[in-house]
Amino acid sequence: MRIVSGEALSVEELHIDRSLRPKRLESFTGQRSICENLDIFIRASILRNESLDHVLMSGPPGLGKTTLSQIIALEMGTNIKITSGPILSKPGDLASLLTNLQEKDILFIDEIHRMNPSIEEILYPAMEDFKIDIMIGEGQSARALRLDLPQFTLIGATTRLGLLSPPLRERFGIPFRFNFYNLDELCEIILRNSRILGINMDEKATLEIANRSRGTPRIASRLLRRVRDFANVSEISSIDSSFVVESLNRLNVDPIGLDSEDKKYLNILRNLFGGGPVGVETLAASLSETSNTLEDVIEPYLLQQGLIQKTPRGRTLTERGFSFSN
Ligand code: ADP
Repeated sequence: MRIVSGEALSVEELHIDRSLRPKRLESFTGQRSICENLDIFIRASILRNESLDHVLMSGPPGLGKTTLSQIIALEMGTNIKITSGPILSKPGDLASLLTNLQEKDILFIDEIHRMNPSIEEILYPAMEDFKIDIMIGEGQSARALRLDLPQFTLIGATTRLGLLSPPLRERFGIPFRFNFYNLDELCEIILRNSRILGINMDEKATLEIANRSRGTPRIASRLLRRVRDFANVSEISSIDSSFVVESLNRLNVDPIGLDSEDKKYLNILRNLFGGGPVGVETLAASLSETSNTLEDVIEPYLLQQGLIQKTPRGRTLTERGFSFSN
């Protein structure tokens, strides 16, 4: 397991995530243009007494897609039901969720790109006309029954927008793309979390954690909690930057948040392929990884940091990438 992964790593972490989640739009840090637009769309739909149009949230894990969806429900004064693409294994699973929704409720489907295509088809009339077709009976006497659904909002979240089928994608009226957070925003989130967790830390120490958080709030709060562990055991009550650096070095997280897996990627690209260009499949085979893992988990941050480039002929190492590899 990677300490710098944007995914939640344990059930305990999911619980902690919950306690650290901002509850209202105004306390959600960053993603400014998303929040500003959302504020308007929410207010407009409340004025019209309608459900919010369907929302598609895309971007790497840990950037606040689930959190923002819960905030939408609170701001709209509605309920939210949370599920995920891989959990919905048969059409009936989705049908029962949909028929149990109340007017203006939100249905949140995480990893919506991993939904089975036969289930996806149920969503089309549900999203467009608030109707669902269900089959009654079996064999020759089977017949389709069309049921009315309440007006609801579907929020789909995905880390891989490109894997979503075009018909599904087109049915979302509000597409939002989440970006990595900048250092100021991460510092604000770390400060807020340290207040909630009762951690005493100075500004430089906060910045050291932010630098290593890969633009991702979930990683920021995880690193903060690990530093707190070191501080508790060393019986230190006030954390400064040198203590943060020392703690995170022990966890093999480098000054810009790269870990051994990122380093391995950069080193192989440099030493086996002379800095590229090399195709993602070849690179994945050399790293004993799948190309999906590279594209979902490892590459987004390396790209954002300007360490690698995607070209039509494959991946290449940039000048900065050379300086971070050996
Ligand atoms: P995603 O659904 O994109 O994987 P989550 O919404 O589960 O991400 O967020 C992961 C963690 O990061 C949660 O603990 C959440 O509180 C925190 N977080 C995410 N975005 C923000 C933000 N803008 N401000 C404060 N905390 C955030």
